[in-house]
Amino acid sequence: MVAQNPFDNALIQLKNASKYLNLDESFWTVISTPKRTIQLSIPLKKDTGDLEVFKGYRVQYNNFLGPYKGGLRYHPQVNIDEVKALSFWMMIKNAVLDVPFGGGKGGIEVDPKKLSKKELENLTRNFAKLLSPNIGEDIDVPAPDVNTNSQIMDWFEDEFSKVAGKDSPAVVTGKSLENGGSKGREEATGMGGFFVLENLLNTLNLKKPLRVAIQGFGNVGSHIAELLSKNDYLVVALSDSKGGIFDQSGSGFNIDLVKDCKEKKGRISDCYCIGSVCDLAAKQKGDISNEKLLELDVDILIPAALENVINERNANNIKAKIILEMANGPTTPKADKILQEKEILVVPDVLANAGGVTVSYFEWLQNRNKESWELEEVINKLKEKMEKAFNEVWQKSQEKNTNLRTAAYILALERLSEKFKLSS
Ligand code: NAD
Repeated sequence: MVAQNPFDNALIQLKNASKYLNLDESFWTVISTPKRTIQLSIPLKKDTGDLEVFKGYRVQYNNFLGPYKGGLRYHPQVNIDEVKALSFWMMIKNAVLDVPFGGGKGGIEVDPKKLSKKELENLTRNFAKLLSPNIGEDIDVPAPDVNTNSQIMDWFEDEFSKVAGKDSPAVVTGKSLENGGSKGREEATGMGGFFVLENLLNTLNLKKPLRVAIQGFGNVGSHIAELLSKNDYLVVALSDSKGGIFDQSGSGFNIDLVKDCKEKKGRISDCYCIGSVCDLAAKQKGDISNEKLLELDVDILIPAALENVINERNANNIKAKIILEMANGPTTPKADKILQEKEILVVPDVLANAGGVTVSYFEWLQNRNKESWELEEVINKLKEKMEKAFNEVWQKSQEKNTNLRTAAYILALERLSEKFKLSS
């Protein structure tokens, strides 16, 4: 990964879009700085009895459009600049999707794979306790992100409710179904990206089958892989943090088998599953590094892991015709420029991966209204939201003659500045 400050990258993206708008200076000042930055020392009593202290963060970037909203990431590389960037992108994303939320994000600098289940639960509960004065269903609503899931959201919600002295399901989204989660939230981010891609293909009149490479096979990567392979795309390359696999025959992996296998073996490079078999003998010839996966000669490349993976070092070698950014911030501004020169179409994160926060919004609404929607209703509403956002971003890019990222930012800034004018 290229060590670049993701918040600097976010501000370059903001500047690129602001050239198309006549923004007033006070709005620019407010929009280029987070409103509140919370840094915590989170104590944890380890199973050994030792005490360890972890760094925790929550950045509440902006709440013009509604309560701060964004995930919690548990990863050894979490730092304040990353969280600032992620909270900024949440602000833009929520404005693009026109959901009534502001931008927020948080995380802990920790490798959760090195903690026992009990330690993970206690760390999460201590995080929730420390954050409790600053969050709430109308203030700031966290959700899952890298290495966090519905179990972690359930612990978080339970601890917050204890501190608040009342059941507070809407303080966090991405909970388990038994604990007030929404049907469809688990697969929502992948599904949202799938709807955006289908709309793009229709708009460009592109025909399937198309060959796809996906980096990252967690919540987002695995769900989009599954949907694509069930809808006539050929998923020919996959990876996780330990490496990847590439199907040179071009027939595409069997994603259901890969998923089962990854669960059992823990690494995708041991899961070379094509047709009805997982063939370990074929593994060596199909082994591929994460770096090489990005440079494969495929139609569509989907980064679904971490930021800055497409940068000035490898952008010239990218051969895909479309990049669907399911990770947040996978492309640096320098790489963006190179990709544009190469006429590679980039569907930006703030549109492509917005399905997660959209269904989080549905979950929040259901919790507040004490409702439980059927899966079909959730999917139909998600599809409608994603299609509308895609069409608006596409129209804006045609109207202003810009790439899709800048178009999405223009749309978001128009909505945010309107709200700013009304409230100031
Ligand atoms: P996850 O923890 O479920 O999965 C992350 C995946 O990335 C894993 O397969 C992991 O092995 C892989 N990975 C980690 N480091 C890697 C590396 N250096 N190279 C290659 N692969 C690596 O996380 P997720 O929820 O799927 O999130 C993935 C991305 O999608 C993140 O950028 C996240 O911010 C973004 N996102 C997630 C959601 C959501 O609802 N979960 C919503 C919007 C955006």
